[in-house]
Amino acid sequence: ATPTSIMVGTGRAAEMGVLFRQGDALQSLRDVGVVALDKTGTLTRGRPELTDFVAAGGFDRSEILALVAAVEARSEHPIAEAIVAAARAEGLTLAAVERFEGVPGHGAEARVAGRDIAVGADRFMATLGLDVAPFAAVAQRLADEGKTPLYAAVDGRLAAVVAVADAIKPSTPEAIASLHALGLKVAMITGDNRRTAEAIARRLGIDEVMAEVLPEGKVAALKRLRAGGRRVAFVGDGINDAPALAEADVGIAIGTGTDIAIESADVVLMSGDLRNVPNAIALSQSVIRNIR
Ligand code: ADP
Ligand code: MG
Repeated sequence: ATPTSIMVGTGRAAEMGVLFRQGDALQSLRDVGVVALDKTGTLTRGRPELTDFVAAGGFDRSEILALVAAVEARSEHPIAEAIVAAARAEGLTLAAVERFEGVPGHGAEARVAGRDIAVGADRFMATLGLDVAPFAAVAQRLADEGKTPLYAAVDGRLAAVVAVADAIKPSTPEAIASLHALGLKVAMITGDNRRTAEAIARRLGIDEVMAEVLPEGKVAALKRLRAGGRRVAFVGDGINDAPALAEADVGIAIGTGTDIAIESADVVLMSGDLRNVPNAIALSQSVIRNIR
């Protein structure tokens, strides 16, 4: 492309709220064959809500919710905020917490009111030596509804199955349909539960799902998508997404996301409207076509 057509293209992109931080990204976008998207905060709003809190036999629901919320009050994960908000809405008092430890991609644990409380994914419970098998049927039903199942443990015993759900952004279905209309494949990369991710992908018509990817595994997931020489654009918003945004052939950050994600990206969507991803790709194709 000529410098003039790049200038015109990036100017038109800016008008629709797409900022090119790298001038050559407009040309790289044209060659993209796969668009991979982070789930939480990118495909979804990133503001999950507590939908289910089922206490195990012998445990009092309100008491366990209060203990778990006390731990989560110390975590900054959006899931933690959902649990704390639900406990507050039920008028529960959150006790003081000692020895808090957040484990990225897994969950959190702490000592509350003289008891050891842990909350997180099945793999987190596994690292604590707890078997979630007795709850598998409940958890699978929740995951098939697109909810994220979590577990809570009290003093080394499973005490509750918890679920949170994060609404899909209104712009997501149309954005995916437009990417397909442009002949592109669409992939999802997420730390979330596999069944949950697959239920959401099925609903959205997403072609490839990479689930239960730990924060440090996003770059490796991206490299797997590149197999066969495919060019990959990655869309993300979080601190965890920064390395993948830098690694992708084109990194696209959500402008309402974290600063580190924006700084690692080639392209920034000023709003969280995902329709601007296919719009930007279509623009890159027309700019390049015009100068041939
Ligand atoms: P994502 O942003 O895709 O949800 P994360 O790596 O942040 O990925 O989290 C992956 C999973 O780890 C979550 O889906 C959840 O099961 C678990 N998890 C992480 N932090 C917490 C927490 N503070 N409370 C409960 N679960 C958590
Ligand atoms: Mg995210």
